[in-house]
Parts: sequence; structure tokens; C-alpha cells
Amino acid sequence: MHTPKHPPVPAAARTQLTQFDHDHLIHPYTSMTEPSPTFLVHSASGCELQLADGRKLIDGMSSWWAAIHGYNHPVLNAAINEQLQRMSHVMFGGLTHEPAIRLGQRLLGICPAGLEKVFFSDSGSVAVEVAIKMAIQYWQAQGKPDKCRLLSLRRAYHGDTFAAMSTCDPVTGMHSLFENNLTRQFFADAPRCRFDEPWDDSDISSLRELVSANHQCLSAIILEPVVQGAGGMFFYSPQYLREARALCDQYGLLLIADEIATGFGRTGKLFACEHADISPDIMCVGKALTGGYMTLAATLTTGRVASTISGNGGTFMHGPTFMANPLACAVADASIGLLLGSPWQENVLRIEQQLRTGLAGCRDLPAVADVRVMGAIGVVELRQPVDMSSIQPRFVELGVWIRPFGRLVYVMPPFIITSSQLSILCAAMTTVVSELETPAETERLNQN
Ligand SMILES: *Cc1c(COP(=O)(O)O)cnc(C)c1O
Repeated sequence: MHTPKHPPVPAAARTQLTQFDHDHLIHPYTSMTEPSPTFLVHSASGCELQLADGRKLIDGMSSWWAAIHGYNHPVLNAAINEQLQRMSHVMFGGLTHEPAIRLGQRLLGICPAGLEKVFFSDSGSVAVEVAIKMAIQYWQAQGKPDKCRLLSLRRAYHGDTFAAMSTCDPVTGMHSLFENNLTRQFFADAPRCRFDEPWDDSDISSLRELVSANHQCLSAIILEPVVQGAGGMFFYSPQYLREARALCDQYGLLLIADEIATGFGRTGKLFACEHADISPDIMCVGKALTGGYMTLAATLTTGRVASTISGNGGTFMHGPTFMANPLACAVADASIGLLLGSPWQENVLRIEQQLRTGLAGCRDLPAVADVRVMGAIGVVELRQPVDMSSIQPRFVELGVWIRPFGRLVYVMPPFIITSSQLSILCAAMTTVVSELETPAETERLNQN
């Protein structure tokens, strides 16, 4: 047997590393002084993360929707390596390069009809900022600076930077903390009609009323098509999307589709807008764009938006330092090529069917409020928020990487996950959820 490429890290070194991490590194949404424990990852390959102590975990998260092909993929590694030999980066002001051009061609070849222009940026949140700037500049250029506000949905999540944050759910978002610094946007009721339910027209009434009452100061409607992600993991009727599109057309508003979580096959379509057969005026992609290899996002828009903004010599006012980073563009192009060349639809359908059967047992557990599956996304919604300090190590003990938040225990595995790996994920979810105290039990324990 050959020696493993990445032997486990000795225990003393591990302790030193995690101690520094604990003392000095800030993790997402955590205390700056008393962070919860983290697990030291040593390498990752296929659908597995290898911890520094040698333990292997089956990955249920795709590193937050991104690693659709799994980790350490030879084709993606080769694409990055090849680009690295030419140049890892060059400024995009006044210069251009093949990786950006190829990726642009690739994106415009697969995105919803009508989108013709691509702006590359570094992260999803920035792609949303760029989309919002486009919408505002679109109206500015027409002499309508008052049409600068956005209509979003409750339970929405569009990112963590300020403009993006202003469009996140006002309750579960961070509005109370940053109230004085956030633009006040409009929020329609979250869609209630589920993806596979018959359409109920009352579902759109809140959005309709807000548009009709406020269109003079609105630039655009922004929404996550079909899947509301980090704000609640809810799958809603595509008819809602069609109605939103129709309202935008009726009142001349722009429609911004945030496909950062849903893009590149996750819901069973390449883009979630396809479920409703609509095209947005502006679309954001990120996360799985590079197959999880590099940080890259893009904002796409129509020729009409572009020619309105720049018709009278106007320039679009954004330009990140690392715009269209060649390494990121090269791996994104390779990732999309890999996706299109793979039986991804069959994979996503297989994952969907297996999640349905594998999570069905959760439905009747006392701690569970709802179980829902769409595409390669499986969600178990609990009645109470989970206790992360106990649930996270329990999942690791069971050999899986699943990171719940709030009342949601969910998975969106790489599309390459095998059926046996997926069985382990589903079994771990069922086990962990069945071990949770029910609200009644908690009450009883509190009384004792
Ligand atoms: C993750 C996400 C974002 C933000 O992307 P970042 O890369 O984390 O900045 C925006 N919108 C949606 C729908 C997302 O899922």
C-alpha cells in the first residue's frame, strides 16, 4: 500500500492550530471572543472531507451550495493549474483575457433568454450590490432618481453587505442591529404556496398591493426564484415568479433574480427561473459558479438595461480590483463544462428521490415541524432551534458534515454523491433529529 498523500496531522500540532484559530480567527456569525469549536479539515476529495485527525466526513453541504462536483476534481484542478502557468491575475481595467471571455460566452449560452451583458465580481453579496446599482442607474439615466428603492420578500436572503442586507428579511436579517445605516426597502409577504401545490392567487396579493401603491419610488423587485434559501429554505410556486414578472412588466419595474444559491442545477433546472419559464432583467450568480473552487460571482443583465444606463454616455459605476480573476474564470468555465457534460439532471433527480424516501422517517418525529425536498436540497424543519454545541459534534461522530442553522437541518450535497453516501447522510439526519428533545419534554425538564 502506498503512503497516503496527506497523512494525519500529529495531535500536538492540531492542538496548536485549533488554539490559534480559537484565539484569533473570526468565523461566520460567531462570537469574537468565545467562538464555538471548529473542526480542522486537512483535505477534501470527492464527497468527503478529511479531518486533520484522520476522520472522514461525508459532505452534506457542498460548502454552502458551491462544491457541486465534490472536492479535488481532476478536471477543475487541471483548469486552475493550466491558468496558473499563464497568469493568476491581471487587472480588468483596459485589459481582457481568454478565461473571462470564455466564461462570458459560456454563461450567456446557458442563462435565461434576453440577458446579454456580464459583470464579474468576487462574491454573491457584491453581485447583488452590482444588481442594485444597475437598477438604480437604470432609472437615474431616465431622469427618475426617485425610483431607487427595492421591493423584496419576507424570508429573503441576498447577502451580508449593506445594500444586500437591506433586502434581507427584516426580522431574521440584521435590520435591528444596523437599522440606522440601512436603506428602508419594501417587503411583501413571503410566498406560502408550495412548489408542488395548486396556485392560490391570494399568495401574490401582498406583492401586487405594494407594487401598485409604491411603483413611483421602486426600481426593481428582487427575489430568489423558487427557493428562498438562507432565510428559511422554502420552495414556492413558480406561478409566484410568473406573477412577479407580470407585475414588473405592467409597472415597468426591473426584475432581479438572485440565482446565487439556485444556479447551476441545484433545483433540477440549470437556473430556477426556468421552472416558471421567465427571464429576469438582472440575474446574479455565484456560489456553484466555480464549482466551489474560487470566490467569483456575476451579475447579468439585458441589452435594454445596458443601453439605458449608457445610452447617453453613462458609465456603470463599479469596478473591483480582482474583477474577472483569471484563475476563477478558468475554473468556472471548466466547472460549467463539467456540469453540462455530466448527467447532472439524472443525478439531481436521483438525489431528490433518495432524499424523499431517506428523510420520510423524520416527518413523524416529535421534534419535526416539516420535511421538504426539492432537487438536490433536503430540509428538515424543527419546532425549536437546534443547540449547535451538541448537534454539531453529534453529526461529526456519525461521520457526516451537516451544519444546521436555527430550526433547519438541511443538506445540499455535491451532485456526485453516491447512493450509499446519501443513505448515510439521511440516516444521520434521522438519528440526530430523533434524539432531539421535543417541546413537551423541554417543558417537563424545565419544571423539574
Ligand atoms: C449566499 C447567498 C448570497 C451571498 O453570497 P456571498 O458569496 O456569501 O456573498 C446572496 N444571495 C443568495 C440567494 C445566497 O444564497
